[in-house]
Amino acid sequence: MRRHKTTKPMRRCIACRESKPQEELIRFVLKGQDPVVDTDGRAEGRGFYLCRSEECIRNAVKRKAFNRVCKRNLDEKEISSLIGQLSGSYQGGMDVKES
Ligand SMILES: [Zn+2]
Repeated sequence: MRRHKTTKPMRRCIACRESKPQEELIRFVLKGQDPVVDTDGRAEGRGFYLCRSEECIRNAVKRKAFNRVCKRNLDEKEISSLIGQLSGSYQGGMDVKES
């Protein structure tokens, strides 16, 4: 674990509920009720965060965490397009297809 004395803004991952520095998380914003990946961290709107880890992304999908933050049910297509946006912004790419 790295330790810094400077206080960084901490944000909570919607999957594991752990607070982490914002730079370690992927930021999403709600456009109306549609979640989009905020690739440069500057989009306006209500944001929520997810760890840059495949595990948390899987858990968010499995526990329907996106539904909770969007306050509606996202269908599978919407979830998979969201995950698709992620693989572009996540370094190294990722594959979160259900096997
Ligand atoms: Zn997490």
